Amino acid sequence: MASTSTVNLEDVPSVNLMNELLRRLKCSTKPDKRVILIGPPGSGKGTQSPIIKDEYCLCHLATGDMLRAAVAAKTPLGLKAKEAMDKGELVSDDLVVSIIDEAMKKPSCRKGFILDGFPRTVVQAQKLDEMLEKQGAKIDKVLNFAINDAILEERITGRWIHPSSGRTYHTKFAPPKVPGVDDVTGEPLIQRKDDTAAVLKSRLEAFHNQTEPVIDYYSKKGILANLHAEKPPKDVTAEVEKVLSS
Ligand code: ADP
Ligand code: AMP
Repeated sequence: MASTSTVNLEDVPSVNLMNELLRRLKCSTKPDKRVILIGPPGSGKGTQSPIIKDEYCLCHLATGDMLRAAVAAKTPLGLKAKEAMDKGELVSDDLVVSIIDEAMKKPSCRKGFILDGFPRTVVQAQKLDEMLEKQGAKIDKVLNFAINDAILEERITGRWIHPSSGRTYHTKFAPPKVPGVDDVTGEPLIQRKDDTAAVLKSRLEAFHNQTEPVIDYYSKKGILANLHAEKPPKDVTAEVEKVLSS
């Protein structure tokens, strides 16, 4: 709140004001959407999210990003989450549910949201349903990024991230113009501490044991769409667009 009240609009360049107006105009005609992205680590959820976010004017809520920010800031929540995250295990349901409950209230979520990496257990999915029911809302679509485990090690160990924007690169599949540097800001890219072959094993175990039942949960509700996440990024985007526009 404080930041918006201190911005003097006279200081904002006209081109930025015009772009923001055009964006809001475009967004005013978009239907509300609430979308969940489910898939193992490296399946491409974070790569597709900004595209869906811009197309439908949604907020992007990635529990992993929020938890990493809490760990970096050493908040009480971050201190509780760190040990499980380092080992590639899931953090407690209560902790992530409270993060999501708070995050969904942001003004940028007024047209709906993309949940990336949440829910990851059936308990989280049930709690999400309860939260939405209170608001008279419901999930529209669940996109299942279906992919073979064998592809994921190369994707995960080659991933580079620009932490402040969430932009994702890959040494082989989506290299930045200059190695180790963000294309837009020129700032350094980082590799996640848990993006190693060893931690990936635990993360995949958590996915198969705890998150796969969530896919069934939404399949039974008739809102699940299966994607071919092993295809090149542009093909996956085309599949996402087809599902979300139907
Ligand atoms: P997730 O958010 O599901 O963990 P990411 O979107 O971060 O996955 O993708 C993991 C890595 O794989 C990133 O380095 C990204 O650039 C790359 N990647 C994403 N989608 C594809 C794809 N369809 N084909 C090849 N590489 C991809
Ligand atoms: P991600 O960025 O989605 O790969 O998540 C990184 C780590 O954060 C996971 O390995 C978990 O330890 C934790 N995490 C993220 N989202 C959740 C969730 N919904 N439930 C439990 N743990 C989560």
